[in-house]
Amino acid sequence: MPDSPSSLSHAQGFVSLVGAGPGDPDLLTVKAVKRIRTADVIVYDRLVSQDILDLASPTAEMVYVGKKLDHHFVPQPKINQILVDQAQLGKHVVRLKGGDPFIFGRGGEELQSLVAESIAFEVVPGITAAVGCTAYAGIPLTHRDHAQSVQFITGHLKQHGEDIDWPSLAQSNHTLVFYMGLKQCPQIQANLVVNGLAESTPCAIIEKGATPQQRVLTGPLAELAQLAGQAQSPSLIVVGSVTELHQELAWYKPE
Ligand code: SAH
Repeated sequence: MPDSPSSLSHAQGFVSLVGAGPGDPDLLTVKAVKRIRTADVIVYDRLVSQDILDLASPTAEMVYVGKKLDHHFVPQPKINQILVDQAQLGKHVVRLKGGDPFIFGRGGEELQSLVAESIAFEVVPGITAAVGCTAYAGIPLTHRDHAQSVQFITGHLKQHGEDIDWPSLAQSNHTLVFYMGLKQCPQIQANLVVNGLAESTPCAIIEKGATPQQRVLTGPLAELAQLAGQAQSPSLIVVGSVTELHQELAWYKPE
């Protein structure tokens, strides 16, 4: 795939799977901006901000396929079909997703449906929420005094959480970042404590991170579920002593 937008092959159709980052449009990559500006069609999710959509050409067709937890407005097979249909019309399609398309974004599944139809594509990575929101909250994911590893986990758990290896998560010197975890905080809290993580372990919930509405709630693991009751989606749950550094390192002051 040549880098110049003007050399995109319109004759055959092409899909750019683009990560939009966590919110602040200035966190888009240069490549993402180029692709959004020149796309014929933009197929976008709920988490993509209006400021980012405003970068599109006035002639671009904007297709909203937003999803909310528990009710998928547009089923995944239908989204896959929209991408295929638009590309087969010879269009340059930008599939725009919040954060990074390969982190809990089903980007891989969408690409597989393109491969099945021999449609050419590229992937433009984005700043995933775990990286962008913690940066804007002044929470380093690793720190020599706090955590030597970090793990990204989906909070969209199966009913009894049997799909998660809780004993391996319940460790000090480790940072846990749960996506889509707000509703599951009671189970997250209970499973971590049962498996030996101290109830005093510091936690943070970052609501609408890297946006002017950002809020950071902090408290011990024993109060995680209670904190979650005060937060709205989208929120990221961070568990680990690095979250203590928020008090010292918070720098982003939304207007
Ligand atoms: N592909 C995305 C994640 C999609 S899953 C990425 O890489 O970031 C959606 C979840 O991401 C939300 O439930 C929330 O946990 C998290 N998230 C995305 N943007 C966020 C934001 N601005 N603030 C807080 N959490 C966010």
